[in-house]
Amino acid sequence: MTPGLKKIVLLAILAVVVFLANARSVVEWLDQAGVIVWAQHVRSEYVTGTAITVILAMLFLLGGPPIIARCARIFRRCPVCGQKSLSEGRYCGACGRRSPHG
Ligand SMILES: [Zn+2]
Repeated sequence: MTPGLKKIVLLAILAVVVFLANARSVVEWLDQAGVIVWAQHVRSEYVTGTAITVILAMLFLLGGPPIIARCARIFRRCPVCGQKSLSEGRYCGACGRRSPHG
């Protein structure tokens, strides 16, 4: 873990602690601003179960979001030696076989 990453993690933890300490104030402020009522209206009108199903089906049929495809590629195994491949290279690092999907 690099020092820059440590600073980011520390700042994130501080932000979460400050947010949690003031969560009640934030919720009351959002309620007074009418954001919660608006969000409930949007959820009940537009984010129905059917809409979520259609969105997920479209994401699946269109190949899925890039992050899911990337994760699926990262956690593949070599078909010859069974070694888990963590790199995105086209060849297995253990046995040298060319990946059929790469
Ligand atoms: Zn291999």
